[in-house]
Amino acid sequence: MDKIKFATIWLAGCSGCHMSFLDLDEWLIDLSEFVDVVYSPVGSDLKDYPENVDVCLVEGAVANEDNLELLLQVRERTKMLISFGDCAVTANVPAMRNMLGSTEPVLKRCYLELGDTTPQIPKDPGIVPELLDRVRPIHELVDIDLFMPGCPPPADRIKATLAPLVEGKQPKMEGREMIKFG
Ligand code: SF4
Repeated sequence: MDKIKFATIWLAGCSGCHMSFLDLDEWLIDLSEFVDVVYSPVGSDLKDYPENVDVCLVEGAVANEDNLELLLQVRERTKMLISFGDCAVTANVPAMRNMLGSTEPVLKRCYLELGDTTPQIPKDPGIVPELLDRVRPIHELVDIDLFMPGCPPPADRIKATLAPLVEGKQPKMEGREMIKFG
């Protein structure tokens, strides 16, 4: 049996969802019998997202131009996209800056008012990605095949989602154990 081409990406999030994925501990060894990790901040050193990926977990919201570019590319190259964690599903913590209306007051507050020695707004096209005006959940920008909420989703929920998937079955995303936020 061909192994599933499996990927994870990290957009605007704290990496807590990936840490929860690592909490799968020894089950990761079982998982490795079904999947090849072809792209991930924790499981591969590849710089470019490959073509023909079967399943991808997307952690984080879309906050800057790099997030958006990667998400669009990942959608194009992946059969099943899973919105992984509350930041991906609702934009959650990264979207708190939306209350300030636009990027300008956010950048001023962070880099000028709270700047210590040499306050300046970072600007280096091609090096520092531009912030988008609003932080958005990923389903506002691309089609999503499965939502897995949680901040982070507990390891048991990740396992209960992935275990059926790697056997070609649809996981049941229902009930408190599977769809509780926070
Ligand atoms: Fe971190 Fe929670 Fe966002 Fe996951 S959902 S990236 S744990 S803040």
